[in-house]
Amino acid sequence: MAPGPVEQNERDWTDTAPPKKLPKGVVLGPDGKPCRTCTDVASWFAMTKGSKSKSAAPPVLPSDCPPDVETLGRSSWTLLHSITAQYPEKPSPDLQAETRTFMSTFAKLYPCWWCGKDFQAWMKMDGNAPRVSSRDEFGRWMCEAHNAVNVKLGKKEFDCNKWEERWRTGWKDGRCDP
Ligand SMILES: Cc1cc2nc3c(=O)[nH]c(=O)nc-3n(C[C@H](O)[C@H](O)[C@H](O)COP(=O)(O)OP(=O)(O)OC[C@H]3O[C@@H](n4cnc5c(N)ncnc54)[C@H](O)[C@@H]3O)c2cc1C
Repeated sequence: MAPGPVEQNERDWTDTAPPKKLPKGVVLGPDGKPCRTCTDVASWFAMTKGSKSKSAAPPVLPSDCPPDVETLGRSSWTLLHSITAQYPEKPSPDLQAETRTFMSTFAKLYPCWWCGKDFQAWMKMDGNAPRVSSRDEFGRWMCEAHNAVNVKLGKKEFDCNKWEERWRTGWKDGRCDP
């Protein structure tokens, strides 16, 4: 299921008509309007400022602006990996079932609709269904899921043997210790 149309009373950039030709990188939402949380901030600026292409230096928005696809992604991964970090070592069967449902609902509701659609499709592929029978299993599965997106975006894969150092215990060299 894709996110629904923009609420009537919600103020978004669509208060003004979009330019006829959208800059590369601007993604439309299911309502046919440009989707901010599906688009990177440079493409969004290129559209709203009317320039033909992205500027060389990507704009930096104040931290209290609605997120673009990258800010949304970083925050979402922080939440998801942190959930795995606090997941029980021996979860009850009920919690395991709820966790599978959570991942499925999360992907359906993800505010970048095309990211969520790809993620749903990835979870349906052989061997990719959420593995949730222990903290380590869930943490590694989440790391693999994140790596699948990294690969899709042409980014470096993360070493999943280090998921717990990154998201739970802090690095062995002590740099995360107070
Ligand atoms: C479910 C989902 C689907 C997404 N799909 C898309 C998409 O289709 N298109 C798109 O443009 N963006 C997508 N994103 C956003 C994208 O994954 C990134 O979050 C965004 O591009 C910002 O990337 P980043 O390089 O800052 O670091 P991020 O990828 O956000 O990673 C944040 C931090 O997590 C750590 N990390 C990196 N990889 C792993 C890993 N495998 N395991 C554990 N920790 C890791 C690193 O320390 C990194 O700095 C998606 C996000 C989510 C949550």
